[in-house]
Amino acid sequence: MQPYIELALELKMIHALFITPEDMVFDIRTLLKCRWGCENHDNNSFKCQERRTSFEERVQMIKSYKNILFIHSNDGGDVSRAALEIERRAFLDGNHLAFAIRYCNLCKKCAVDENLPCVQPTKVRPCEAIFGIDVYETAKHHGLPCYPLQHKADVQNRYGFVCIS
Ligand code: SF4
Repeated sequence: MQPYIELALELKMIHALFITPEDMVFDIRTLLKCRWGCENHDNNSFKCQERRTSFEERVQMIKSYKNILFIHSNDGGDVSRAALEIERRAFLDGNHLAFAIRYCNLCKKCAVDENLPCVQPTKVRPCEAIFGIDVYETAKHHGLPCYPLQHKADVQNRYGFVCIS
């Protein structure tokens, strides 16, 4: 699994470490933050669709993986691009169920946010929140920074997960 850590660092991630579902914090209250207070709160956004999966099924999906790469950067777009590229490489390496979990920030300007069709729909991956992943607590659990920003200019800490096998 070490090559995927090196790949993540090459793809501009600040941190990349392998974790298991036991190292992740799951909390159904992430759905509260997802459905109230998020700009995509109506849950009809292409980026946020649950695609006929139940909450229990989604948690079970994550818990079926044993090797999950947890990646960190200060740029949300970089995290989305890195997660997708690591997923692609892992798939080509024979991990046929490799899958990235990461709110989509692939484009500088998101067409979906402007009520237009997504420009690369097969590359969109689901957001952590609909899987019940508490990213703040999971990051803290690994000694990584994640806290509410106080000012617009504050440095962001953005995270993604690539379920490898
Ligand atoms: S338009 Fe771009 S940023 Fe928006 S959902 Fe599609 S791929 Fe993601």
